[in-house]
Amino acid sequence: MQIAVVEDDDGVGDALVEALATHGHEAVRMRRGSDLLLGHRGMDAVILDLGLPDADGLQVLRQLRAVSDVPVVILTARDDERSVVRGLRGGAIDNLAAPPTSPPSARCTRTTCNSRCAPIPGSGTLPNLPERE
Ligand code: CA
Repeated sequence: MQIAVVEDDDGVGDALVEALATHGHEAVRMRRGSDLLLGHRGMDAVILDLGLPDADGLQVLRQLRAVSDVPVVILTARDDERSVVRGLRGGAIDNLAAPPTSPPSARCTRTTCNSRCAPIPGSGTLPNLPERE
């Protein structure tokens, strides 16, 4: 599966690319919203950070939705529930909190693969995930 990782932060972006690669996915790193809008064709899924240098991620999501139904998982700050809700209403299929406190690979590959490929071995467990109160 080819997955676009749109994130300008190298720490988060590189970790995601690495995690996806270990699950056998080809991650294509992008740093700006415009990169995604120009380069989304051929992608099987998109992980989209909402804080991008050239545009608001929610706006990028809206623009993408006008031309593509590729599954999108948004990356948001942990406590930014408002953006999560707006992202999901805007057509994202799931949210991933950033920076991730646990390996993000399982969650995002499970989500993006949901309807597109077979379950990934080991993707059902997320070690060190804090309990919700
Ligand atoms: Ca960012």
